[in-house]
Amino acid sequence: MNIRKELDTINKEYHYLNYIPETIPEAETYISVKDSICVKDMPSTAGSAILKDYKPVTHATCVQRLVDHHYTIIGKTAQDEFGFGSFAVNVGLGFSVPLNPFDKNRCTGGSSGGAAGLTQKASFSHVALGESTGGSIVTPASFCGVFGLCPTYGRISRNGVIDYGNSLDKVGPLAKNCTDIATTLHTMAGYDPYDSTTSTERVPPYDTYLSLSVEGMTIGVLKDTLHEGVAPEIVKEIERAIETLKGHGALIKEITLPLSKKFGIPAYYIMCTAEASTNLAKYCGLRYGAAEKLEGSFNEYFAAVRSKYLGEEAKRRIMLGTFVRMAGYRDAYYLKSLQVRQKIITEYQQAFKNVDVILSPTVNILPPTFAEIKQLSVVENYMLDVLTVSPNVAGLPHMNIPIGFAKGLPVGMMVTANHFQEGKLLQVAKEFDA
Ligand code: GLN
Repeated sequence: MNIRKELDTINKEYHYLNYIPETIPEAETYISVKDSICVKDMPSTAGSAILKDYKPVTHATCVQRLVDHHYTIIGKTAQDEFGFGSFAVNVGLGFSVPLNPFDKNRCTGGSSGGAAGLTQKASFSHVALGESTGGSIVTPASFCGVFGLCPTYGRISRNGVIDYGNSLDKVGPLAKNCTDIATTLHTMAGYDPYDSTTSTERVPPYDTYLSLSVEGMTIGVLKDTLHEGVAPEIVKEIERAIETLKGHGALIKEITLPLSKKFGIPAYYIMCTAEASTNLAKYCGLRYGAAEKLEGSFNEYFAAVRSKYLGEEAKRRIMLGTFVRMAGYRDAYYLKSLQVRQKIITEYQQAFKNVDVILSPTVNILPPTFAEIKQLSVVENYMLDVLTVSPNVAGLPHMNIPIGFAKGLPVGMMVTANHFQEGKLLQVAKEFDA
């Protein structure tokens, strides 16, 4: 099988990769890497024109660990610029928007859209490395019908990951089966001296969870998410999945998380834009990122470079993030969002006293068409992250499980576990692994 040829063919039609290496050596397992994760000597742009010619001199720690275990890299996958989006339509200047593998008029979900689409389309054994700040692994995994696991914050090193929001970013695997998710997670996880936010918590052999039954496990179903604003065909599939779990001996309990539901989105969008605007400040055309001929004052020059090379959503986030950090607003917005985050964590901790995992749809709509996305206001767009942001804000591991199809499009279910309980996610997910 010629991998390079297959990738070229897929890419011409679906635009999943921003970069494919000239030669790809034969390997047992191939990995693709989201463009915001550094790969030595390969363009690593985070999907932004401002980083167009950037080629890192070292691998990100997570990539290095996989390369050391004989995984072969097949390219860098398409994404929303710096991760800013839920549909992979906010790509940087000059990048192509990835198309849904089941319907080319629909999005892949984002921001790790290329990762999810390629995982669905590749005919060979392939694991994609995605990155999530507020749902960017599970959302595209759901829209493309594959498994995707976002681990506990600090479980996998962020060293070599181009920052979106430092207190939120997590690397995680997407794959067609749970075994690949478990093995890749195990290989990448663990303490890294280059990232002080990594945890020293022991890394368990995740694949052992794949042979554990869900019998006796208590599963909390987020009650509101089955009644409010969720497409009925998604509810139907979720109810069917719940029956499957019950049939295998799991105990089902209805729960609610009122604080997360009400404050998850506002807290997330304040925190993530505050961090993003800080992170993007370094791309000013001097030491980092695209440069132009230095003209006018420094301020004029910085403004000209950033206006030219950053996309609309990046600019919106810079403005929003700068605003919430400004003197006079900082206490009212940014610091308040950190307090809300603490309360959301506490709410989850209370819930995990009574349940092993929490279950909901991953997204409350089927993959939308590009025309439908164009109709959304910015706030409506942000609101579609309502189910995925809270586990991210709380740093909790969560996973998309493909559970079926409706109208020919994939339906995903999300399970969330307590910190460092990734094993429980796999235990549930494997019930739906063919
Ligand atoms: N949709 C969310 C955002 O735009 C999450 C994206 C992500 O996880 N990178 O911020």
